[in-house]
This record gives sequence, C-alpha cells and structure tokens, in this order.
Amino acid sequence: MGEYPDYKPEDIYEDLRKILSEDALIKSVFERINNALDPYTFATDISREKVPYLVVRPGSTDEVSRLMKYAHSKKIPVFVRGSGTSLAGASRYRHKGIVLNVSRLNHLNIMKEYGFVESGPGHRVLQVKERLEKEGYFLPLAPGSIRVASIGGIISNNSSAHIVDSCLGKPRDYVLGLEVVLPTGEVLHTGTKSLRRAAGTDLTQLFAGGDGLLGVITGIRLRLLPGFSNAYGVAFFDDPIPLARAVQRIYLEKAPPPLFMEFLDERVAQISFKIQGLAPPPGPILMFHAIGATKEEATYKINQSVEAIQKESPIKAKRIEDVDEWHKIWLARESALPYICQAGKGVFGLSEIVSTVPDLVDCLQDSMNMGNGMPTLEKLGQPYLFGHIGALTFHPVFIIPADWPAEEKAKVVEEMFLKEAEINEKYGTCGGEWGQFARRTPFYRKRYGEKAFQMVRGMKKLFDPNKILNPDVLPDE
Ligand SMILES: Cc1cc2nc3c(=O)[nH]c(=O)nc-3n(C[C@H](O)[C@H](O)[C@H](O)COP(=O)(O)OP(=O)(O)OC[C@H]3O[C@@H](n4cnc5c(N)ncnc54)[C@H](O)[C@@H]3O)c2cc1C
Repeated sequence: MGEYPDYKPEDIYEDLRKILSEDALIKSVFERINNALDPYTFATDISREKVPYLVVRPGSTDEVSRLMKYAHSKKIPVFVRGSGTSLAGASRYRHKGIVLNVSRLNHLNIMKEYGFVESGPGHRVLQVKERLEKEGYFLPLAPGSIRVASIGGIISNNSSAHIVDSCLGKPRDYVLGLEVVLPTGEVLHTGTKSLRRAAGTDLTQLFAGGDGLLGVITGIRLRLLPGFSNAYGVAFFDDPIPLARAVQRIYLEKAPPPLFMEFLDERVAQISFKIQGLAPPPGPILMFHAIGATKEEATYKINQSVEAIQKESPIKAKRIEDVDEWHKIWLARESALPYICQAGKGVFGLSEIVSTVPDLVDCLQDSMNMGNGMPTLEKLGQPYLFGHIGALTFHPVFIIPADWPAEEKAKVVEEMFLKEAEINEKYGTCGGEWGQFARRTPFYRKRYGEKAFQMVRGMKKLFDPNKILNPDVLPDE
C-alpha cells in the first residue's frame, strides 16, 4: 500500500499482544469495518483490501503511547476514532492500518476546588454534560451529534455548533490544558492548572482544533462554568428573507447575543412540527434561547431579541414561558435531519454554509439555490434548509433516494463540498463545524493559499515524520 509496508494482521496482533492488554485488541471483522466508516457510508467504499488490520481500544495513556511508538517504528497508519461522526470525511479510514478507538479513555473528575473538569476523550458529549449539570455546571459544547460524538472529537475539531460564537465562543476557549500522545509516542502535557491562561505560545491552542493531525488527545482539562438561568423565544415569519434581516438586526442593534438561535425553513418546519404534534407553523421559524445569571437577566435578553425581531414584521414573535412548549419546538429542530429523511424516504447529503452579518440575506438565497449548476444536485430539487442562523450558519440538506446507486450518492457529496467551498469563498468565510480538512482540503488551499497549506503540512511533518497519524486527511500533493 504505497509508502507503507504491508503486514499480515495476525503478525500485528501478535506484536501488540506483547505490549498491550488483551482486552485492548479487537479482531472482529464487523468491528474493523464498523470503525472504518463515517456518516457518508455511501461516499466511497471500504474495499476488502483496505479493512483495518485491527481495532485497538487502549485503556490508558500509557497504552496509547506504546501503540504509537510501535506504529511509528513499523510505519503503520493509525486512524484515531472518536465516534466516527465527522461530516467532513475526517473519520473515514484511508489506508490499510490500525484504528485507535478512544472510547475506553473515559475518566471524569470534576475538580470543583480548582474550577475545572478533567475528562478522557472517549466520553460522549452528552454524558459529560449531564454529569456537570448534576453538579450545577454548564458544558459549553452543543453539537447536533451531542448524543453520539465524543468530547475528544469535538475538541479536536473545535466545533460547538448550536452555540452562537459571539455568546460563548468556541470549545478551544474553555480548554485549559491537554494531555496528548504524539505520533512518535511521547506524551505532552500542555497548558495550565490555573484558571489563568498561559501567556505566549501555548501548544494547547494547536491541538484543540488541530483536526486530529498532530497528536492523540488523551486528556482534556476544561474550565467549569456555573449553570445559568434560561429563557426562550420563537418567531414565525411568512418568508425567510425578513427572518434573516431580523437576525442581522440583533447584531446591528447590539441586542445581547443569544446562546442558541436556530432556523427552520417552511418545509422542514412543517415536517418536524407535525411529527412533534405541534400546530402547523405558518412559515419559516426562528427559535432562540438566552442565558443569564438570573431568570430576570435571561428574560431581559430574550425580550431584547423579540424587540429587534418585531421590527421585521414577523407573523408572531414571542417569549416562550412554558418550558414543555419550548422542548417540543427544540426537539423539532434537533430531530429535523432524521425527520426529513423519513419524510423524503431517503438518505441525507449535508453541507455547511457560513455567512457574514451583512451578507446573511444573500447567503440564505445562495443556500436555497445551492443545487443550481450542479448536475446531480439539480436532480434533487431545492434543498431543505435549517441551521444555526444566530451563528450565521446554514445547513442545506439534499435528500437522496435510498435506491440510487452508490456512485450517484457519492456524486452528491462531491458536488455539495464543491458548492460549499464556492459559497464560503464568495463570502470570505469558512466552516465553523466539522473541522477544516479531509473533504474540505481543496477549499482550504484555495481560500488561504498554498503558503498557508504548506505551513500546515510542515507542521504535520514536524509532529509526525512518518506520516502515520490520520494519513491523507492532508494529501501529499
Ligand atoms: C447527526 C449529526 C449531527 C452533527 N451535528 C454537528 C454539529 O452540530 N456541529 C458540529 O460541529 N458537528 C456536527 N456533526 C459532526 C461531528 O459530530 C463533529 O465533527 C464531531 O466533532 C466529531 O466527533 P467524533 O467523536 O465523532 O469524532 P470522529 O468523527 O471520530 O473524528 C473526527 C476527527 O477528529 C479526530 N479525533 C477524534 N478523537 C480524537 C482524539 N481523541 N485525539 C485526536 N484526534 C481525534 C479523528 O481522527 C478525526 O480526524 C454532526 C454529525 C452528525 C452525524
């Protein structure tokens, strides 16, 4: 397989038995294939020749270190696996190699007296969130994949999704320090145990958001945030354009940024509301959630948003006082993707378009017309649209008939990433979710230039001279 030596799986297994515990080694063919796929299972095939040698689930940092030293010395590719939910192709297995599944690295210590929590990367985000909430803390990570994605995967991609960046920032802003195993096997401890951040060059900032290219994150120290009071609101429009203008107003009129502000177009809203047992909405919807140190503060923030939104003549904009009503509306948003797949009897192709504040209306229209000029996308008609509009993000969704051949489905993914790149480049933006490489690499090279890309490649070479960690997420040429 190219520049990597070819081995027999049984030889690798025998070698690893000598340095790792037996329960870290998984030979089952099902697990080897399962750990090599991503949500776009139809985008490329896992051929028989490419099935991983082995899945390794280390139980400690020391085991990760021993595995990486071994793989480095033998030049065996290692693919780090959180939960495999990356939508930019980063968790897609590419070369014959070993999958390093981090799910057993799942310690969790809430260090109240220090003001931080230390976690292994293998927890699902929701598990950490629920543990923290029980103790009165708030976890500032909220991807749509919260029930499945690992906290290590989220930190590696620096993605938080629903959270409006101008309200709370990104996950990286809360990482005080990391434990990282380098591709050569050495263990680094970055950052600080203080709530005061390190000055100057802090490698924490390189690994958090490092796209899994530079090292394996085995420990995460996150600042604790006290729990908040919440308030909620919803607005119904008869057209998406004034809805987008209302969001612009919130920024321009300096209304306090909400924690979440989500958008459903009319078609998505109709489907999701019906499944949730809610009255049919009259048009597209804006839903928003604000936080405050007190209920009064959170309510004040929602009222400010409602006031700004009213100026764009919605059919109705209001604060929601009934928490059950809010939860139903929120679930209509959270479950939108499976609901539209169910209604359209197909599988999804999903992308991410990010706007600036002044371009929000144009960007919304570009997202609605995303299929134009793309031969396969055009066959699917206008995409469904929802997204984190408060974070200036749209997710156009194409529903692909389940019985389309795999090659046609793969074309949808290819065309979506091309079109995503074209629109984000037009607005001078870039993806705020899912990571920057794998399927987005051509965009990165074009958007930031060859010099920037070569610098990332140089960094990769420095950390990983044998190119064994997640190879080909950054292509060689
Ligand atoms: C239904 C659905 C909804 C989603 N919603 C969102 C959303 O709202 N916002 C968003 O940003 N994303 C979303 N995603 C995408 C995905 O959940 C995120 O990109 C998430 O960060 C991936 O986490 P994971 O644990 O699945 O990582 P994986 O997919 O397993 O890995 C992603 C990359 O990170 C690397 N990696 C994983 N763990 C480590 C580690 N411990 N050390 C070093 N590298 C590591 C992997 O090697 C890979 O390169 C969604 C996906 C789905 C399927």
